[in-house]
Amino acid sequence: MSIEENITIEDVLKNVKFDLEFKKEALIRGAYAVAEKAHLGQKRKSGKDDYIQHPLHAALTLAKIGLGSKTIAAGLLHDVPEDTYVTSKELEYKFGKEIATMVDGVTKLGKIKLRGSKEDVYLENLRKMFLAMASDIRVVLIKLADRLHNMETLEYLPPEKQHRIALETMEVFVPIANRLGIGEIKVRLEDLSFKYLDLENYTLTEKLVTAQYGQRKKYIDKMVIELKKELTKEGINVLNIFGRTKHVHSLYQKLKRHDMDIKKIYDLIGIRIIVPELANCYETLGIVHKKYRPLVGRIKDYISLPKPNGYQSIHTTIFGPEGIFLEVQIRTKKMDDEAEFGIASHWIYSEKKRKLKNFFLKSKHAVPDKELVWVNQLREWQNELGKDDAEFMEGLKIDFFKNHIFAFTPLGDIIDLPEDATPIDFAYHVHGEVGNRATGAKANGKMVTLDHKIQNGEVIEILTSRDHKNPSRDWLKFVRTSLAKSQIKKYLKKEGLL
Ligand code: MN
Repeated sequence: MSIEENITIEDVLKNVKFDLEFKKEALIRGAYAVAEKAHLGQKRKSGKDDYIQHPLHAALTLAKIGLGSKTIAAGLLHDVPEDTYVTSKELEYKFGKEIATMVDGVTKLGKIKLRGSKEDVYLENLRKMFLAMASDIRVVLIKLADRLHNMETLEYLPPEKQHRIALETMEVFVPIANRLGIGEIKVRLEDLSFKYLDLENYTLTEKLVTAQYGQRKKYIDKMVIELKKELTKEGINVLNIFGRTKHVHSLYQKLKRHDMDIKKIYDLIGIRIIVPELANCYETLGIVHKKYRPLVGRIKDYISLPKPNGYQSIHTTIFGPEGIFLEVQIRTKKMDDEAEFGIASHWIYSEKKRKLKNFFLKSKHAVPDKELVWVNQLREWQNELGKDDAEFMEGLKIDFFKNHIFAFTPLGDIIDLPEDATPIDFAYHVHGEVGNRATGAKANGKMVTLDHKIQNGEVIEILTSRDHKNPSRDWLKFVRTSLAKSQIKKYLKKEGLL
């Protein structure tokens, strides 16, 4: 379906991956009715599309990646409280707390913006803050679907806005989609951002892809038929086999590493084979290698050694007929869904429960499959933060940043603080002198007291005295960080006040 095309709620319903029971269909249709009425008369930036097309496209993406009826309903409603007369309270009254909370979460995330700094530490903190504030992974998925449609319709915005949004997408949303393992959304966001950030190289690379794939199309089609015949003859139940090409941005990255020489790229085109069981993957690999000679050192077994984001597949590069190299990817249907839909795919597989893995033997309760997937994909961060497995038992909640508050300086730097931190903590974390000379503070432009509890995402401005230092013994009563405490004490001691 082309992105320009206007869609209806029927397209969303047709694409759901679950059993469309009456109650679930009624929920989605109900959410659509409210969103449509609320956005009535509003247009998208293009001026021609009705605004409702935007939440419909977001909901369609959510349906396609396998999310449930509540998330799809929240996707349809995601811009309602922010942009229409219908309030969050009314949504809660109509659809319940769970959906209203998801919608509020999306609204809140919309306020986080990429500001000046492009340093790695800043970007990493911004991504963490994004996830911390979402608190429910489904909110992040709605935000990604929202961003995808905004990127697909970016041409209607003025150039400077295009650049800012594309940069934010590349630096914040693409890494998040990648960490959550949602390849399908990741590559689309990545290629779209690339196009707006570097049109020249995008066009150049895209031409290469099209030309190469065009040239090789007949060849690939023939290979697909031959391989399928061979595999079937050997008793493999091939669920799907098709030609694929590398995505624009990833090809460009690779070209840059290989002197822009397209001949050095072996996985530009390839074939993907989907089989039912894990054992079939290795059988298939054997059959492929028997028919076509593998390129030494190019066999990658991501099944026994998955990528950090959970990606599983076997990759091998073979010498095809006429001496042409091509990459063959072999995986099960489940691995394929997980690669495309990542964390979202666990909704599709949630009925299938699995026994406890060794990983969880300490835990007393059985863990459904969906949580195992979720846990696997977050293990990376878990390690980073040194938290216990037990803390992940709550399933969908993003708990590991629970006790963190992220606040901005007026210049856009992010200060990472513990919960209930105050402007004085903030000031000392910016610089010792800023703390010592603090006289007042503003949060989001409004004056606040020095013991104000900073909220996630607030911009904190510290007012300072140029002439004298002000640390007061009273500050010790409310500061939360040891850094602030020790700096205040140090000053008081020096002045003989402590
Ligand atoms: Mn939106």
